[in-house]
Amino acid sequence: MTVTARTADLAGGRPVVPSRGAMRPLGLGEARITGGFWARRQQTNGSATLEHGRMWMDKLGWTGSFVPADRAGAAADRRGREFTDSEVYKLVEAMAWETGRSPQPGRDREIGELAAMFASAQAPDGYLHTAFGRPGQRPRYSDLAWGHELYCTGHLLQAAVARTRTAGADELLEVARRAADHVCATFGNDGPAIVCGHPEIETALAELARVTGEQRYLDQAALFLRRRGHRSLPPHQFGWEYFSDDVPIRHAHTLRGHAVRALYLAAGAVDVAVETGDDELLEAVADQFDRTLARRTYLTGGMGSRHEDEAFGEDFVLPADRAYSETCAGVAAIMLAWRLLLATGRARYADVIERILYNVVATSIGDDGRSFFYANTLHQRTPTGVVPDDQEQLGFGGGPRAPWFEVSCCLGNTARLIASLSAYLAAVAGDELRLFQYADAEVRTTLADGRAIGVSVATSYPDSGGIRLRITETAGGPWSIALRLPDWAAGAASGATAASVIVNGRAQTVGGDRVVVRREFAVGDEIVLQLPMSPRFTFPDPRIDAVRGCVAVERGPVVLCAESTETGPDLDQVRVDPATAPAGEQDGEAVAVAALIDDTAPAAWPYADAPPDGSRTPTTLRLVPYHRWGRRGPATMRIWLPRT
Ligand SMILES: [Zn+2]
Repeated sequence: MTVTARTADLAGGRPVVPSRGAMRPLGLGEARITGGFWARRQQTNGSATLEHGRMWMDKLGWTGSFVPADRAGAAADRRGREFTDSEVYKLVEAMAWETGRSPQPGRDREIGELAAMFASAQAPDGYLHTAFGRPGQRPRYSDLAWGHELYCTGHLLQAAVARTRTAGADELLEVARRAADHVCATFGNDGPAIVCGHPEIETALAELARVTGEQRYLDQAALFLRRRGHRSLPPHQFGWEYFSDDVPIRHAHTLRGHAVRALYLAAGAVDVAVETGDDELLEAVADQFDRTLARRTYLTGGMGSRHEDEAFGEDFVLPADRAYSETCAGVAAIMLAWRLLLATGRARYADVIERILYNVVATSIGDDGRSFFYANTLHQRTPTGVVPDDQEQLGFGGGPRAPWFEVSCCLGNTARLIASLSAYLAAVAGDELRLFQYADAEVRTTLADGRAIGVSVATSYPDSGGIRLRITETAGGPWSIALRLPDWAAGAASGATAASVIVNGRAQTVGGDRVVVRREFAVGDEIVLQLPMSPRFTFPDPRIDAVRGCVAVERGPVVLCAESTETGPDLDQVRVDPATAPAGEQDGEAVAVAALIDDTAPAAWPYADAPPDGSRTPTTLRLVPYHRWGRRGPATMRIWLPRT
């Protein structure tokens, strides 16, 4: 396999570095978010979320569990569930991306101290997990279905990859290599034909192979993929599909079972398919994801509609009020979509990333960066409670954004994504710079032929649809800039303003899923993309029974919702007339729809031999971005509004 030179990785700071594919992703050193929607969140992530996560992990003893394995009482002092080691690793990964984005000596030192702590807890043979294998604990790998050992190792590897790509090889990479070598020695060709109940090690091993150039890590990832789907894990009440262990990965038709597990596994499969040239596997996973998007995904991009097993429902089982849509599933779906985008070049995966970013990731995180949703419902029937203080832990779902959950996987996941987000903005293919996500940004990179180019992006997206690019550096000869036209903009035939592009004052034709501007650029050249931001109605496929007869409103990439505060109408009595287009400003946020309030009183028996016939009072319903809901105190909320 070809491995990108380490020096390039260090300069780039990229989460995913495929050795082949439709394009080369840019890293933190080449694309930087400088202001706006995501810059604010990156700042909060760096200044509050990381510290908040550390505070909780110290308080609960999760970091304190990393003590030498032979220390007296090590087992008895161990705190937390089997997977808490992974939360510490994910936090370190987020810290590593954050230092790559915005260097801080204090954070650098903190990562070094944590790496030393991991090293001290690592057994001489490389095994590292604080809940197994020590005197008084269960033996190593005695519970592969639920023990999360290889899952935790995977997150250790990903933390080391992030650290190496942002600061260079250090002790963390050494710890990760020893752990990976131990995994290869234990589960190699001669090892037991069994897999971890929670995928994650696959994508981590593939990326560690990319960083180190070690073929055996990639081989091990491929071996784990081949071993899954043969029901080697013990039977479970949720079935083998819960673990994606029901069918070999290349024979499956859709993602199924536990959503985060399925998405991590698929991401690992894409990594291995790309590195081994296995196009059949790549297309199999792309087909499964496409089918999942077509039948098992919420309007928000959220995935997982079953609370009891955190799983995908059957096709079109997408109840709004029982949406699970775990934040981690959103992050995992972005990981998968990004890999598929890089491998195939298909623009729809960038659309998916945008949808999930604005409607799952941004929704989950509290304004202060110290609280978050674990599940992201699309319909809150009873008012959420008040956000508890920093020190209080909550159960899952249904409540407000919480400072902490017993299972707090989501905080570390959003933290590592937000810190590395600028790496998802753009890529280079040949002599073309492709811009996928729109934010205030500075891009400085080289085309495939080595020419250095620079572009600055100024926008107040998604509040407005204007995106202004200015060439800041260029070299002789023509090259191209390709701008993504989101699916919602291309589909603006329904009377909405179409997208337009102006290059140095002259309009250019726009169509399809992207617009390409090719010319011999000069410094100061300007491209202005204008996306149609009028609010629009969105209708569900009638097979989604739970929201049949309803309509939603979207504006640009943002899903809107009705949120009721104490004085507002009862949202479950509102009926919207889709014959009257929603009203809203091109550059504003106020969106209103004409509605009726159905005042039918509940009867003794909620079914009758004729449709209910209450009186209907006209009203105007104000809608807000879904990602803003629940930030102004207890509220009910709904995205899907029944039609008149
Ligand atoms: Zn989670």
